[in-house]
Parts: sequence; structure tokens; C-alpha cells
Amino acid sequence: MSKTEVPYKIYLTEDEMPKAWYNLRADMKVKPAPLMHPGTHKALTAEELTPIFCEELVAQELDETTPFIEIPEEIRGFYKMYRPSPLVRAYCLEQKLQTPAKIYYKFEGNNTSGSHKLNSAIAQAYYAKKQGLKGVTTETGAGQWGTALSMACAYFGLDCKVYMVKVSYEQKPFRREVMRTYGASVVPSPSETTEVGKKILAEHPGTTGSLGCAISEAVEVATKNPGYRYVLGSVLNQVLLHQSVIGLETKTALDKYGIKPDIIIGCAGGGSNLGGLIAPFMGEKLRGEADYRIIAVEPASCPSFTRGTFAYDFCDTGMICPLAKMYTLGSSFIPSANHAGGLRFHGMSTTLSQLYHDGYMEATSVEQTSVFEAAEQFARIEGILPAPESAHAIRVAIDEALKCKETGEEKTIVFGLTGTGYFDLVAYQKYNDKEMSDYIPTDEEIAASVAKLPKVE
Ligand SMILES: *Cc1c(COP(=O)(O)O)cnc(C)c1O
Repeated sequence: MSKTEVPYKIYLTEDEMPKAWYNLRADMKVKPAPLMHPGTHKALTAEELTPIFCEELVAQELDETTPFIEIPEEIRGFYKMYRPSPLVRAYCLEQKLQTPAKIYYKFEGNNTSGSHKLNSAIAQAYYAKKQGLKGVTTETGAGQWGTALSMACAYFGLDCKVYMVKVSYEQKPFRREVMRTYGASVVPSPSETTEVGKKILAEHPGTTGSLGCAISEAVEVATKNPGYRYVLGSVLNQVLLHQSVIGLETKTALDKYGIKPDIIIGCAGGGSNLGGLIAPFMGEKLRGEADYRIIAVEPASCPSFTRGTFAYDFCDTGMICPLAKMYTLGSSFIPSANHAGGLRFHGMSTTLSQLYHDGYMEATSVEQTSVFEAAEQFARIEGILPAPESAHAIRVAIDEALKCKETGEEKTIVFGLTGTGYFDLVAYQKYNDKEMSDYIPTDEEIAASVAKLPKVE
């Protein structure tokens, strides 16, 4: 395809937007292992999950056979306010790199939350409202999920309680104010407001917190307050389902121009943007209709796929949540406080873990200074200030494009640009001041937290 034929931005009409989410699990021959009860070690039933999660979301969580699930009209209406998100041909970056590769990115930062998280937040708030709940609780790490959920709850008139990892709460006071502007209450985690928070504080005084701690606190508050449920912004199957809107739009846009990607790249924290972006492509791969190289990119400081163990583990530090079979560093793993780039969850989506285990995708880890180098280069050439998380994907997209330069191959690379970095300027400041360093956990550190995995036959 010549340069004049593909526009800088491929948009879709409202009519071309997806009307149903795609449930990747329906096409998996080996399904992801079910969530397990932490006490009995039996697969969790809908009855056991409904005290924690909204009913309809539990149904979506457990559904591994229905390939397409209709997007309710109200959610499609909300999506239309900020979607379709543009698929951008990175002509300027290609030129700067002098690469024969064709680079595209799907940009999810065009909404106030600044990331793809709103795609699932609005769906989860919708189902909570439909069930007649008063409100929802959640955790947030870098703050994007909390912001997205605050926006979604404001839209549907729900109360929203956010437990924010303490290090982020302190580093990103403006994130907190955005959430409060949308009506959410924000508590730094671990806190004295929950039993599990008090316990963690007693055991680790002065801890800067972790996503795992914040999850434990949010779940405790949801289960102790009538009319509340817990919602989660990543990892779960339901979240990957909602995020399939990213991949479905990408596929429709590429198909319009007859473009077939060779390589699809996404950053991986809990796996939701990557799972969403790759969904329809992975579906084709699973059905034997097409082949793609799919690469998950994670931080070298929190390398769940590349150095983790595929086993049942807790999703939270407090060990009160269900067990999930996933690539994990152990639920007691807390990434170094010097790690500034998000993606700090110890585990990974069960769906992506199974696909990785079965050889359908690759994973690689990158160090944070090289991530910020890529972020800076991208910002200067393509104009967008990327979220550090997104810059993990940029790093590997640039590296793959540079490989094409060496070999002369005209590969088509698609990557997920999950969000913007306006609230990550403390991290950018560290990078600009050359105070950023790379921390890579030792084998001993990982072994120590992996040794604490629950014993499951
Ligand atoms: C949350 C977030 C991620 C990582 O989460 P996933 O569930 O792995 O997608 C990546 N990028 C941005 C901008 C985020 O907010």
C-alpha cells in the first residue's frame, strides 16, 4: 500500500463501530483455568462470586463459550462520545527511523482518564447501576483506572471509593483531584480504614503500598458495605472482554485498507489492553485462519511473564481474593519503589497466561531508562506525550522497526498506545534530570516471593 493510500489516521464511522464485544475464550481449545476458592481450592461458582462482583459481570467472567456478547445501547452511546479511537499510521516515526517497516498505533488516550481503562469502567458501572447498587469500590495504582471509574460512576450516579497505592497517591496529587472532581473518595493504601490495611501496616511499617494491598482493602470494604461491589480494572476475563473494543476497531480499520499486520505489540500490566488489542487477531490465529507475531512487553522490574511461574496465586497481598492460575511473581512481590513506569502488578490475566503458556504469544521485558528514551523520542516525533506504560510498547515497536531497517523487510507493525503521560511528569522529571535508574529484581528476590505461592494440587 503506498503512502498516499493510507491516511495518517484511520477513523471508523459510528456504524462501523463494534456492536458486540468478542470473547476470545470461546475460541480457545485450552481454556484458562478457573478462579479458585482460596479455602476449598474448588472452582468458584457464580453464587460465591456475586457477593464480590456485580451479577452480570460474574456471568461474563464465567462465560467461556459465547463468542460475541452484545454491547448494551447505553454503553455504545457512551463509547460514541470518545470512540472510535484513531488508528494512526506513524509516518513521521517511520521516516525518522529510516525503516521500511510500516508502523501503526491505536491511540486510547483521547479521553479525560487518559487511557483505555474507560472502556471497561463504563461497562462495569453500567452493570452496577442496572443491579440497583449504591456504589463500587476499587484500587488504583498509577491512577488511570481510578480516574476512569470515577468518570463512569459520575455518569451513572454511583458512589465510588478508590484505594490508591500510597506511592502514587503521593507522586500524583493531581490524579487524586481529578477523581475527586468526578465525585470519588480517594484513600491512600495501605490505610487504617480496613482490617487488612491495618495488618499490612503493622507487618510492613512505612510501606509505599502495592496494587495487591489496595485490592485487599477495596474488596474488604465492598463486602462489608451493603449495596456495594468491588470492580477491577484489569486482569479479569470480563475486563479483557470489554477491552476487545480496541482490537475490533483496529481490525475493522485495517481491513478497510486491506492491511494485515505482521507484528502486534502491547504493554502488559494485568493484560487488559493487550488482551483487548489482540483479541480478534488471536481469534483468527486460534481458528487457524491467519498468523501474527504477538508480543507482550513488561517492565524488567516486574517481569511476570518472562521470569514468573505459571501457577495458582492470590491476586492480592492480603490473600483474601480468589486464586487465579497465571504467570506470577508471587503475591508478596512488591516492585522496587524506584520503578516509575506503572505495570506493577505481580500477576497476569489468566487468558493471556494460558495463551503464552501454549505458545500463541511472546513476551519480552524492557528496562525503564530505555522505555523513557523511547517515550521521549516518540513525543518529539509523533507529538503525543505517552504514558510510561504505553512507552514499553513503543520501545519494542521501535526496536522491531530498526530490525526491519537492517534486514530490509517491510513488516507491518501495530502497537497499542494505551494513554497519555500528563500525570507522570514526576517520572519524566527523574528521567530528564538523569536520576532514573534501572532496578532488576534478583533471582533470589523472585524465588523468595514465589516460595510463598499457595500450595494447590
Ligand atoms: C493500566 C494501564 C496499562 C496496563 O494495564 P493492562 O491491564 O495491562 O492494560 C497500560 N497503559 C495504561 C495507560 C494504563 O493506564
